[in-house]
Amino acid sequence: MATSRNKKILISGASIAGPVLAYWLHRYGFQVTVVEKAGAVRSGGYAIDIRGTAIDVVKRMGVLSRIAAAHIDSRRVTFVDGDGALIGSIRPEALTGGKEGRDLELPRGELTTVLYDAVRDDVEFRFGDSITTLNEHGGGVDVRFQSGLQRPFDLVIGADGLHSNTRRLAFGPEAQYHRYLGYCFAGFTISNTIGLSHEAFISNTPGKAAVLFAAGDSDRLHAFLTFARPQPPFSEFADIEAQRRLTASVFAGARWEVPRMLAALQEATDVFFDVVSQIRMPRWSKGRVALVGDAAYAPSFLSGQGTSTAMVGAYVLAGELATHSDPGAAFASYERVMRPFVEVNQSLASGGAASLIPATSRALWIRNQALRVAPWLTRTGLPGRKGRKASTALTLPLYGVQARG
Ligand SMILES: Cc1cc2nc3c(=O)[nH]c(=O)nc-3n(C[C@H](O)[C@H](O)[C@H](O)COP(=O)(O)OP(=O)(O)OC[C@H]3O[C@@H](n4cnc5c(N)ncnc54)[C@H](O)[C@@H]3O)c2cc1C
Repeated sequence: MATSRNKKILISGASIAGPVLAYWLHRYGFQVTVVEKAGAVRSGGYAIDIRGTAIDVVKRMGVLSRIAAAHIDSRRVTFVDGDGALIGSIRPEALTGGKEGRDLELPRGELTTVLYDAVRDDVEFRFGDSITTLNEHGGGVDVRFQSGLQRPFDLVIGADGLHSNTRRLAFGPEAQYHRYLGYCFAGFTISNTIGLSHEAFISNTPGKAAVLFAAGDSDRLHAFLTFARPQPPFSEFADIEAQRRLTASVFAGARWEVPRMLAALQEATDVFFDVVSQIRMPRWSKGRVALVGDAAYAPSFLSGQGTSTAMVGAYVLAGELATHSDPGAAFASYERVMRPFVEVNQSLASGGAASLIPATSRALWIRNQALRVAPWLTRTGLPGRKGRKASTALTLPLYGVQARG
């Protein structure tokens, strides 16, 4: 189905959106190259959810059974106060707005590996490299890479995440598209000395959440220290020691498991520090360059929909490129199909903040009152959570290639 004029496509980023896009473009007959700055597909990482329309994407790719086999099956989220006293426990679906028995939850690295395996033999992957310049002209885009390589492509797609390099090169600095949601977080792993299994514990004080999450029965826990901060701490970005100091100062004096978490943060080699932000852009394409996934419309982890939105976006973008000979028309159609879905998913973040990190004492009291009527919550979700509707707000178009299974 690929048109001969726009056959050679470069994708930047090999996490979620990149491999899904590569997979579908290959099936439609395009010649695909994927460039990834990491030296290999990144394994490990926190747990992510796939739900609603995104499940249809992996089903059509024929990888649903592999993904289902990696399902973590979290059974409970327990909220405690700053001293560790129990507030209430709920099913994860009450928090995420998902559907019990239908959502899939797996470590991000395992999903990335499954998606990479689905396409690794069919397209070219260039690990350990990155785009340095994009020079667009009437007939295509000349790309120069950090490695020194130069190659012409017909189209370039940025699937390189929240802090997208492709977006910076083609659309300008991140600041104009970045909507800071008022929180930062440090994520890292810590030993599971408290016997958590298939569950998460969240300890809240106003504007702060200390989270311990057990992906299955693992002897390691995912730890997150999340905190409200009016201005994004951009000065800390390049400096891991500054990130450790900032997080430690915000949580100084906190109780429950926090002292052990802060000690682990000082030693951890897998610290991941970032702002909680969304990307909002008036257009997701410019000439022969387009964006997909977090690069174009990150909804933030507070929405719980970043992965699903990225997968659906990649599927739709590939389908639109396959069914339009003019890339401008394809990109416009991709936006028409995806924008309402993206908007409804991005709108979930405020409910996520109210549930996970109530910012004030009053907001925390209201959230805790809701948790105390937990049996009701297991059916309807915490106030403000509408994930189920958002995750299915798009019926996946069919672009003329038979589903695999
Ligand atoms: C702590 C946390 C928890 C989350 N929990 C959930 C959840 O429960 N549910 C959910 O749906 N989503 C969740 N998300 C969001 C989810 O991880 C993202 O929305 C999703 O990974 C987006 O996929 P992506 O492929 O667009 O971008 P990313 O996964 O960010 O991938 C971008 C890729 O581009 C590569 N890259 C970056 N720069 C360059 C460059 N210059 N050149 C080449 N490659 C480059 C990166 O190495 C990476 O491989 C969470 C996010 C975080 C941070």
